[in-house]
Amino acid sequence: MEKTDIKSLTCEELAERLKDMGLPAFRARQIYQWLHEKQAVSFDDMTNISRELRERLKEYFEFVTLSQVDVRISRADGTRKYLFALPDGHVIESVLMKYKYGNSVCISSQVGCRMGCRFCASTLDGLARNLRPSEMLEQTYQIQKDVGERISHVVVMGSGEPLDNYDNFVRFIRLLTGKGGLNISQRNVTVSTCGIVPNMKRLAQEHLQITLALSLHAPSDEVRKRLMPSANTYHLKDILEACREYFEVTGRRVTFEYSLVKGVNDNLEEAKALAGLLKDMHGHVNLIPVNPIKEREYVQSTPQSVQEFKNYLEKNGIHVTIRREMGRDIGGACGQLRKSYLNQKKEG
Ligand code: SAH
Repeated sequence: MEKTDIKSLTCEELAERLKDMGLPAFRARQIYQWLHEKQAVSFDDMTNISRELRERLKEYFEFVTLSQVDVRISRADGTRKYLFALPDGHVIESVLMKYKYGNSVCISSQVGCRMGCRFCASTLDGLARNLRPSEMLEQTYQIQKDVGERISHVVVMGSGEPLDNYDNFVRFIRLLTGKGGLNISQRNVTVSTCGIVPNMKRLAQEHLQITLALSLHAPSDEVRKRLMPSANTYHLKDILEACREYFEVTGRRVTFEYSLVKGVNDNLEEAKALAGLLKDMHGHVNLIPVNPIKEREYVQSTPQSVQEFKNYLEKNGIHVTIRREMGRDIGGACGQLRKSYLNQKKEG
């Protein structure tokens, strides 16, 4: 019999399973609290549960935990990059960022990625597998424990395309922000997508209050296709319509991410086209000077052209922020730490 991943169950589902084992509902609440509030590391931590019952639980349920393989702490800004091993030995990467408003964790949603964005390190080796809800939660739990401070914000912007792992991702959000866990407000959670239109529309109907971030990166399908293969499947017109729908249904403003690549998408013609495209979208633009990876030839835009791009958008009524680069000294961009770990293993 395959064991059930207990940390991916809601408290109600856990109660159902325990009922089948002849156990009362209060046990589900107790166990759920151990898992998600006290973040027990094994069934044996659950001291108000008899040893006999703990042994029964071990027979029925898998207890998913991650083990820390490596952590790098930035001297510049305290950013921490973690490499975690999953129960099957795959490794994933997560990041802690310290802001004035609180601690934010950036988590991975898949092992690798199959979207193929040209500038991104996470996708270089393709997709290995989806992460389970428990494995997404654990990244946050482990980091909160490691820093000994409350995590208040979560961004799903690490390796993987969350909307390519839709059901696990939505379940993760409900567990993360539901009663009896870390108590993180949905408004403090952001999910970033390259624009999987049907699942963006589904997400709008989930009645969540999370922020949607769209990886836009170009104001036309033509330029976008050079950077992101998914642009061949989903066109800007439909993606922006899905963004508008998300805003209308949830009332949440969409963030547009735009990584600036020298000579590819950073001239003022593009800024002009972008301003036109986003005129009535109620969103704001987050400019990210591209973080060069050694496997690709892309070069970061100069600080001057980033500033000019920003000024142009602002003059045209678009709200813009420039993303502060965090942890540059510790292998900044998505998937870089994992990639260098995998390379080392291959060579070693
Ligand atoms: N798959 C999701 C989330 C992952 S990446 C998505 O596409 O949105 C989070 C953001 O970082 C995306 O906007 C992605 O395009 C961007 N990104 C990835 N690698 C980058 C790099 N080397 N430099 C700048 N931005 C990068």
